[in-house]
Amino acid sequence: MKKKDFFSPSFLMSYQKCPYAAVNNVFTSNDYTKFGELVHTLAEDYYQKPFDLTTVNTEELLKSKEIYNGKFKKKIKNVIENIPNFSTEGYEVFDIESRNTPKEYVHEFFNKRFMAVKLMSNGCGLRGAIDMLLKNDKEFKIIDFKSGSSKPDPFQVHLYGIMCAFAYKIMPEDMKMSCEFWMLESGKVHTYDITSELLEFNYQKFKDIVEEYNESFSLGEFKKTPSFKSCMFCKCACFEGRSYQSNFGESKTVSGY
Ligand code: SF4
Repeated sequence: MKKKDFFSPSFLMSYQKCPYAAVNNVFTSNDYTKFGELVHTLAEDYYQKPFDLTTVNTEELLKSKEIYNGKFKKKIKNVIENIPNFSTEGYEVFDIESRNTPKEYVHEFFNKRFMAVKLMSNGCGLRGAIDMLLKNDKEFKIIDFKSGSSKPDPFQVHLYGIMCAFAYKIMPEDMKMSCEFWMLESGKVHTYDITSELLEFNYQKFKDIVEEYNESFSLGEFKKTPSFKSCMFCKCACFEGRSYQSNFGESKTVSGY
């Protein structure tokens, strides 16, 4: 296994849940993750060049990702209805998926462009693609498209904030910074203000996790931390004693919490 220098916000979120599962990439793909990828692409396409979403063949779209579960038909219809209601009016669409990111921060990876910022003297940093950035004279907004209904984690917000603060040299003292999670299915928006204090706090948290990762890597051992939610989406059934039916119809056993 190769040691990581750059960490994506999604890796760090998974690492907090279970280091072993995150490092070994054993969290499973399922209909919900496929649906998430699908609606992300739809929203990205729409905001790059708005088009008539009512012409989209939802059946075909779901089939293209091999999602045959009927409840996703209603979900995709809601998404299509809601996307045009999230407004970008009054803002320049500054960046979608790092297209306008300064060159020194762009990292080519699997033909996709990611923002990569070095943050620590040992060369470690953050890497990831932000869905969309909106900017006017007074405000800088980070937009994250969400397909599910669970409340976003503020740590993720501030990891995006740190990436933007470094790449675009924008700080909350200079202009209002916030992160909006556009809940594509429900049409709701969750807004988080980004302040210097919170950036500082979460930057320290990022450094602590990286240090812990580096230590575990040297020891060759990453902790397993079971929890109902994490283990349910993991291929490893490494704790025995508790059975339940996972979302995907498989029977698994988990305990230790
Ligand atoms: S089953 Fe649970 S504890 Fe084991 S690796 Fe997966 S998430 Fe971690």
